[in-house]
Amino acid sequence: MATVHQSAAEERGDLPRTPRRWPLLAQPVPVVGYMCVIIGLHVALIGVLAGRTQLHAAEVLTFGALLACGVVCIEASRRLSIPAGVARDLLSAWWLPVALLLPPLYALLMPIPLQALLQFRVRRTLLYRRVFVTSALALAGVAASLVFHRTVPHPLLGAADWVIDEVPGIPAAIAGAVLFAVVNATLVAVAAHSAAPETRWRDVLWTRESLLLDVVELCVGVIVTICCSVSLGLLLLALPPVVLLQRSLMHQQLQAAARTDAKTGLLNASAWQREADTELSRAVRAAEPLALLLIDIDHFKRVNDTHGHLVGDQVLIGVAGTLTNQLRDYDVTGRFGGEEFVVLLPGADTVEACRVAERLRTRVRRLAVAAEDGTVTVTISVGVALFRTHGQDLIELLASADLALYRAKESGRDRVCLPAVRPGPPFRA
Ligand code: GH3
Ligand code: MG
Ligand code: MG
Repeated sequence: MATVHQSAAEERGDLPRTPRRWPLLAQPVPVVGYMCVIIGLHVALIGVLAGRTQLHAAEVLTFGALLACGVVCIEASRRLSIPAGVARDLLSAWWLPVALLLPPLYALLMPIPLQALLQFRVRRTLLYRRVFVTSALALAGVAASLVFHRTVPHPLLGAADWVIDEVPGIPAAIAGAVLFAVVNATLVAVAAHSAAPETRWRDVLWTRESLLLDVVELCVGVIVTICCSVSLGLLLLALPPVVLLQRSLMHQQLQAAARTDAKTGLLNASAWQREADTELSRAVRAAEPLALLLIDIDHFKRVNDTHGHLVGDQVLIGVAGTLTNQLRDYDVTGRFGGEEFVVLLPGADTVEACRVAERLRTRVRRLAVAAEDGTVTVTISVGVALFRTHGQDLIELLASADLALYRAKESGRDRVCLPAVRPGPPFRA
């Protein structure tokens, strides 16, 4: 399942932190309220169901066995270390059977020890985020449990007996699994979108890659559920392939993380350079224009000094989101380091490049990032360089864009400039 975004610097603890002891309170009020409601609902349901659920040895044993499998899975992939950013795992393989086979109370309890293990053995994230993710998983589990138990009241009797009143249990189990994924993804996406309203719903809810992973998780979860209902011993057969899948998933994420800037999700400098080189070769072959934008946030140090580095990070994430939203899928956008971004615009001539740069400048101006004492706004300066006109290769283009950026800064910031070597005035809308 997905967990909420965590910046690498936060994770390493290498950024000076704001002195606040309760980082949740730095979030906008609706986000705090929403998270408190979800966590409160989780706690209240545990209270209500604990009094109503009778303990049966077979159910406790099944819960213990699935919990043990989850622990083994976490421990077996712990040394690979989870990449920063949105991390995915295959733990649904264990909490989905708990949700489908056992009374809803167990679905409420299962994520607590596993998320605690992740927090203390694998990766520390902000505690409120971990607690929220735990509650979201628990509520998703309860939803799946309630729906499935309406069709199959005693699923532990075995999948062979799941046909009740001619309603086949396996499609009902799949429906429960889908509901589990939908509820979990929605609860997390609402929190992520409220915290960063500029991000697209499509990105916080489901990308093509995450949809594929959800389908794999659901299939594995349903197969483990069926095995488990037939015999607990079959879990010994299910465990090794799930651990292997989990490890290969982590490996794949680590590979992707090596290309990505963990804080903003954009390409990192070396990956950007590789992709930009490819685009440049294509522009040469096709004799097409191409432009490069070098973007720097103005007076960003002041943001850090006034509001703290965590708010500074949110500004970086917000600016990166604005750039991504405003650019085409085939534009190559990267974080060059610090508060500097770089964009390659295939097919763009001078007019188009300056038009795009102006649009980015005005959109970033409108961005408002929540801080303790109101909102923070920033401006950007943009240096524009054109392939062939200002440089014959990537190094020359970057140098020209850097000169143009310097001009933009020198002439007052919050503007778009071309390099001075070209005759004609700098572009200014
Ligand atoms: P200018 O308008 O001339 O660009 O001024 P500036 O303050 O934006 O530029 P300067 O180079 O003086 O400061 C950049 C600051 O960006 C300093 C550094 O602490 C901060 N910074 C770099 N990377 C990060 C980051 O990942 N997170 C945060 N919060 N701050 C960062
Ligand atoms: Mg700057
Ligand atoms: Mg800079």
